Amino acid sequence: MHLAGATVAETARAVGISYPTVRQWCKIQPEPKQHGTASRCFRCRSDVKNPTEPGQYAYLLGLYLGDGHLVTSARVPVLRISCADAWPGLIDACEVAMKCVLAASVQRVQMQGCVSVQSYGKHWPCLLPQHGPGKKHERPIILADWQRRLVEPHAGDFVRGLFHSDGARFANRVTVRGKEYVYPRYMFTNESTDIMGLCQWALDLLDIAWKMNRRNSLSVARGTAVAAPDRHVGPKS
Ligand SMILES: [Zn+2]
Repeated sequence: MHLAGATVAETARAVGISYPTVRQWCKIQPEPKQHGTASRCFRCRSDVKNPTEPGQYAYLLGLYLGDGHLVTSARVPVLRISCADAWPGLIDACEVAMKCVLAASVQRVQMQGCVSVQSYGKHWPCLLPQHGPGKKHERPIILADWQRRLVEPHAGDFVRGLFHSDGARFANRVTVRGKEYVYPRYMFTNESTDIMGLCQWALDLLDIAWKMNRRNSLSVARGTAVAAPDRHVGPKS
């Protein structure tokens, strides 16, 4: 409202918030538009007033490492995460995370069987420094110290992102003494040993037991371990 021409007093009255508070907020002027995102990059600006929610960052990082691409060859870098049509809740969650972290706007591009959720932003490479040429499993994927510090207290969100992007939660049926038991099972499949290592690291932080089924496939299953990822990951919806 203030940027649109209302005085601080008019704005304060309209939103029902005290004059000094609104005056303080109005001092924070957005930077001239640089693809709409410059003022939000917490790597470029330490004084950013609307910092990224760390949980949303951790979630987005998980989605990106699991099945995202950051194209930096275009004039403006574009972050793309493909979300299966079967999980509309995931598409929304992905869009929310992009917007919380950096995106001014998010596009959904319908592809065969999935929606590519994408956002253009000059500063995506600052926030996702794991970008590089070629496939993720053909280059080292190492979190920067600042990323590690950011993700550690939000390991659950990070794991949720990884599992949502690339994992599958399905019922495992087991018959014990003629009675059938069904329990959920989480799997994460990724060709990158480094990304698999990050998944293991985060699960360890959460005290969730895991095991490797194959070189490129991890699962969390059985007993108490299942309750924990249900809390952190939840079924895809
Ligand atoms: Zn930046």
